[in-house]
Amino acid sequence: MTQPALIFDLDGTLVDSVYEHVVAWHIAFASAGVTLPAFEYHKRIGMTGAMLVSAVSDAFDLNLSQDAKKAIEKRQSDAYHQRIDDARAVPGVDLLWRTLATRNIPCAIATSADPDDAERLLKIAHVPEDTVVVTKRDETESKPSPEPFARAAEKLGVKLRDSIVIGDAVWDMLSSRRAGALGIGVLTGGYSREELVAAGAYRVYENVGEMSRRFAELGL
Ligand SMILES: [Mg+2]
Repeated sequence: MTQPALIFDLDGTLVDSVYEHVVAWHIAFASAGVTLPAFEYHKRIGMTGAMLVSAVSDAFDLNLSQDAKKAIEKRQSDAYHQRIDDARAVPGVDLLWRTLATRNIPCAIATSADPDDAERLLKIAHVPEDTVVVTKRDETESKPSPEPFARAAEKLGVKLRDSIVIGDAVWDMLSSRRAGALGIGVLTGGYSREELVAAGAYRVYENVGEMSRRFAELGL
């Protein structure tokens, strides 16, 4: 039997960066005169920037023009750039990389992050140099389209259906479900176990370290 490949999301899954994103959204919307509880941004993290701005605009009837939406997205991206170095690896990443290497399990990373941000995040998460990575540069559709994960599988030379997708957000679970891949949730992004299970997670772990200790549950 061939070993299934593991395809990881990056923000919130391998790097503890969700709160940097939330603060950046808070600043960006405030610059457009919109102040909402930070939670409203948090629960939409994991969508692309453009989708998040539209989702918030629709939910609160903000009637933002296209230009205003673009400006908020740009402001968030700038604010996030300034904070990215405050982000840390999630607990257990080193155990994850060691376990994958020891067992020869193929893995890749699929993120909607901008390529420069992704490069910094990969370093923070101690991602091994030769790891297959898909970013915005690959011009896939954004999650919850399964395309970013599908492109990662393609680069690994495996089928996404035979792979396992690991993510912190309901959007990751939705993506994997659409592609018929097994989805595994981690709690390091702040989404609850219940939300991840409702979105289709087969198992939910505290972090990728706990998952590495329980690979047997995934048939690895
Ligand atoms: Mg994430």
